[in-house]
Amino acid sequence: MDLPLESMRSAAQEYHPPLIDFTQHIVATPSLPGQEGDVAAIIATEMENLGYDEVWRDQVGNIIGKINGGDGPTILLNGHMDHVDAGPLEGWPYPPFSGQIVDGNLWGRASVDMKGPTACMIYAASLFKQLNIKPSGDIYMTVPVMEEIGGLGTQHLITHLNAQAAICGEPSSNTLRRGHRGRVELRVTFNGRSAHASAPHLGENPHYAAAVFLSNLSTLTMAYDDTLGPSSVAPTLYSTDQISPNVIPGQVYLTLDWRNIALEKPADIVAKVEALVHSIKGLEQNVDVVVKTQDFTTYTGVTQAIPAIFPSYLLPENNRFVQAAHRALVDALGRDDGVDIWRFATDGGHLMTADIPTVGFGPGDETLAHTNQERISLAEMEEAVVAYIALILALAEAA
Ligand SMILES: [Zn+2]
Repeated sequence: MDLPLESMRSAAQEYHPPLIDFTQHIVATPSLPGQEGDVAAIIATEMENLGYDEVWRDQVGNIIGKINGGDGPTILLNGHMDHVDAGPLEGWPYPPFSGQIVDGNLWGRASVDMKGPTACMIYAASLFKQLNIKPSGDIYMTVPVMEEIGGLGTQHLITHLNAQAAICGEPSSNTLRRGHRGRVELRVTFNGRSAHASAPHLGENPHYAAAVFLSNLSTLTMAYDDTLGPSSVAPTLYSTDQISPNVIPGQVYLTLDWRNIALEKPADIVAKVEALVHSIKGLEQNVDVVVKTQDFTTYTGVTQAIPAIFPSYLLPENNRFVQAAHRALVDALGRDDGVDIWRFATDGGHLMTADIPTVGFGPGDETLAHTNQERISLAEMEEAVVAYIALILALAEAA
């Protein structure tokens, strides 16, 4: 199907003011993971007003809007409605939930990550209706919950939606992305024997085992990928089973934050850490290594145990969706920014796990995400609307 660039550009321009109003409205509506109910209702209403053929909320609270197309391939757009905490208010030049516009930037928590990009995708898909053009296949606009704490929302989406290709709209300064390292959180438990701290010889203090383990951690050989670089591991949290300072703990818990390349699976990582434990004399009986799993409850009241696994993925440079997306962006934006990877993990990893080839593209500077300087350029948002339409068309054609 052919959609002239000129009509995409003028539609993006015409709908820019309501897009910005909507973005300000959702930025001004806080939505921490598990508390997305208010913003979900605003998003659903906007999609209905924009003429989506169907809009619904699934069991865990994700909002899904559908644009009906022909019998061709289905394209899925993926945003998210939650965000990280705003932190101390003093550090913000403008209040984090104001959506204030200063010098062509819309300020606030989630403006970049990722209510701004999500709003652009919502509008881009709706322009097929406004321009009265039927896409070759259906378009699903998905706005999941709980991306920031492990992707419960998108993991649920892929149990009931399918697509031939997807766009993950996380911020990339309007350049194309084809993957990222993943993240796996491990919990290492050192088991000892608790005793009164005045009589250390009666106990077995697990701190010493943890110390030996930690001092050997840097001897691990890390996996490597030419594009993603090496996997990395960092000890982060440390705690014990006691709260009294005069008791030798029975257990010590250590959290490892592992950033993995695409070929390294969570089971491989656990095995690698276990092998290190077994290589250290005296540790083998007393140490357990597991992927951390936590219960999360959605705003709709569903509780699910979610392992802390954020999958890595990498589409090859010559993948047909990557190539089609690249060509479409060069045409639509009039410049060639090449193809890069993200430095952080996204819900794209979960989509890829469901065998949905996923390219990444979004307005906004990714280095501002999770900071008190978070703001998004309005000019980039307008450009992104045109780019998303071009990407939807190109992916459908490549599928
Ligand atoms: Zn995000």
